[in-house]
Amino acid sequence: MIKFDNVSKKYQDGTAAVKSLNLEIKAGEFFVVIGPSGCGKTTMLKMINRLITLSEGTLLINGMRISDYDIHELRWNIGYVLQQIALFPHMSIQENISVVPELRGWSKERIHERVDELLDMVGLDSKTYRNRKPKELSGGQQQRIGVVRALAADPEIILMDEPFSALDPISREKLQEDLYSLQRRIKKTIVFVTHDMKEALKLGDRICVMRDGEVVQVGTPEDIIQRP
Ligand code: ADP
Ligand code: ADP
Repeated sequence: MIKFDNVSKKYQDGTAAVKSLNLEIKAGEFFVVIGPSGCGKTTMLKMINRLITLSEGTLLINGMRISDYDIHELRWNIGYVLQQIALFPHMSIQENISVVPELRGWSKERIHERVDELLDMVGLDSKTYRNRKPKELSGGQQQRIGVVRALAADPEIILMDEPFSALDPISREKLQEDLYSLQRRIKKTIVFVTHDMKEALKLGDRICVMRDGEVVQVGTPEDIIQRP
């Protein structure tokens, strides 16, 4: 589904952020990328949705080079969740979730139904929350909205960059559990970046350990525990 073939990224100032990356992420897999700050995790994610270009190598999604995709098509098909809760403050929860479906030309009725469905997925009552502004929700609730907003137009792939690291430990644990069961239900391909090994072991079907722009180990949580 996502295939890195000898992919490298060198920034303009010469920083080699990712070096000769070879990696295959399977459809429906919960794939966790872990490593210390600065090891290239975010760079890897940003290459997948073409926020940055590759310096070398080939990156394929469903067998096609990402450079051959229409950029809108590609971005629509890839949800992105960031660490900083990036909801639009002046827009209601419903409006926040509807941005991409509206761009895709979905009807009002279809969007309305989808918002109900998505809020239900993360345990928020639609009647209560759909017309609220982000600041009227707790941090944990806002991050739930961040997650479902990325799912709104039913993308195949979801990229998550330390989505829970700004939360308190209790909300964090709850969201981890909910995301885990949600992913098992909807079977989306998730690429999840973290620097927390406990989180990685809890969530990942497979875990990719990075250091200095290189993959040092890829395996199931069991593999990773047995060969640390
Ligand atoms: P991580 O997500 O693992 O913290 P990043 O992918 O953000 O790592 O960064 C990898 C390396 O690339 C770091 O050394 C970082 O300082 C550098 N880097 C990131 N973005 C840029 C940029 N726009 N220009 C130059 N160097 C960058
Ligand atoms: P948490 O303890 O999880 O951070 P809060 O104490 O911030 O949660 O909020 C508890 C409840 O109050 C939540 O249901 C949230 O939606 C609601 N709430 C928080 N702030 C506001 C607000 N400014 N207006 C209306 N409801 C709010």
